[in-house]
Amino acid sequence: MNTTLNMDTELLYCGNHVSGTTDCPDTPPVYYATAYAVKDTVDYDFANRGGKYFYSRTANPNRDCLGELISCLEHGEGTLVCSSGMAAIATTLLGLLKTGDHVLINQAVYGETIALLNDVLSRYGIEASYADFTDLPSVEQDIRSNTKLLYTEVIANPLTVIADIEAIAAIAKRHGLLTVVDSTFTTPCVFRPLDVGADVVIHSLTKYFGGHSDLTGGSITASKELVSRLTTAYLLLGCCLDPNSAWLFGRSARTLAMRVRKQNENAAAVAKALAEDPRVIQVYHPSLPDHPQHGLAQRMFAKGLYGAMISFRVADDVRRVDGFMHRLSIIQYLGTLGGIRTSVTHPATAFQNEFSKEKLREMGLTEGLIRISTGAEDPDDIIGDLSQALDVFSNS
Ligand code: PLP
Repeated sequence: MNTTLNMDTELLYCGNHVSGTTDCPDTPPVYYATAYAVKDTVDYDFANRGGKYFYSRTANPNRDCLGELISCLEHGEGTLVCSSGMAAIATTLLGLLKTGDHVLINQAVYGETIALLNDVLSRYGIEASYADFTDLPSVEQDIRSNTKLLYTEVIANPLTVIADIEAIAAIAKRHGLLTVVDSTFTTPCVFRPLDVGADVVIHSLTKYFGGHSDLTGGSITASKELVSRLTTAYLLLGCCLDPNSAWLFGRSARTLAMRVRKQNENAAAVAKALAEDPRVIQVYHPSLPDHPQHGLAQRMFAKGLYGAMISFRVADDVRRVDGFMHRLSIIQYLGTLGGIRTSVTHPATAFQNEFSKEKLREMGLTEGLIRISTGAEDPDDIIGDLSQALDVFSNS
């Protein structure tokens, strides 16, 4: 370093580069740098064509490490890592569709995905219509001449309705359409949509990949060809994940399989206990033999894992539902799911801005429906907490 510099300049340049050997750290450092120096105009051109890192929005080593891991887990060729699950969904739809195109979407998907199509993309002439994806003939009938893609989740929130992804992808292929699957609730530990013919798999990484209720992110995994089609929208919408979150997601993902396995096994135990509780009217979880799609779940999902989301129905009495929430001692009422600690939510309240009261009732989201996101506690403690809180329904 030039020692004749003045202090204002020294403050900017001294101590800005690592001088010792830093080869092969056991975990990658966080690359906060927004820009990387290029040698000359030729080098800039090389970097700008993707030859090397030069600007953080276009590419960042921490995002690329995370993308490589997700591609590997999902059996995809490439992954775009986004700032949220909604950013991943918006990038996918905006990247694949244009004015005049139509999306056929499962009626049982995340409410904000529906809101994105109805309230935003409709303004750009992208049409959407909704079908019951458990009724495959009606899905096929609803395909229009301008339909470009079929969109679904694997396990729908909150009633745990399952979409047969292989059958849906086969319908899409027959009609030359793409199949886009939001696999947030299953994760690659339970199910891999690309293996059975889907074209794009999306995650809200905020849920199980993050797993600790402290990160927000999303991902899009697909073939090289589709990722390159989506890259323009991804770069220009500017919804890339920041390096620090990408690093933290990478760390959380190391324990994904352990967490998801334990959370899924706990869910099956909790679902069984709730099904045997006389105060509970109905339990929704694909592990239960009386779940209408138990057989499909056994065929589709990794052995013994059926998702960690459960819903159950008690008396339609919101005052007592609130009493139940108040009585819970370890379990919290949270507006998310997929965290390491068990949480509950009240779907009729969560979806009240998207649907009218009548529509919610028609969808089965009555006041007595409670959703559980099962965590990794000892299952007896989860069951014990739910059971003592259910005492508010003992006299119904
Ligand atoms: N997809 C599903 C299935 C979700 O449940 C959510 C959020 O709850 C999202 C996408 C959106 O994810 P994010 O909140 O990370 O934008």
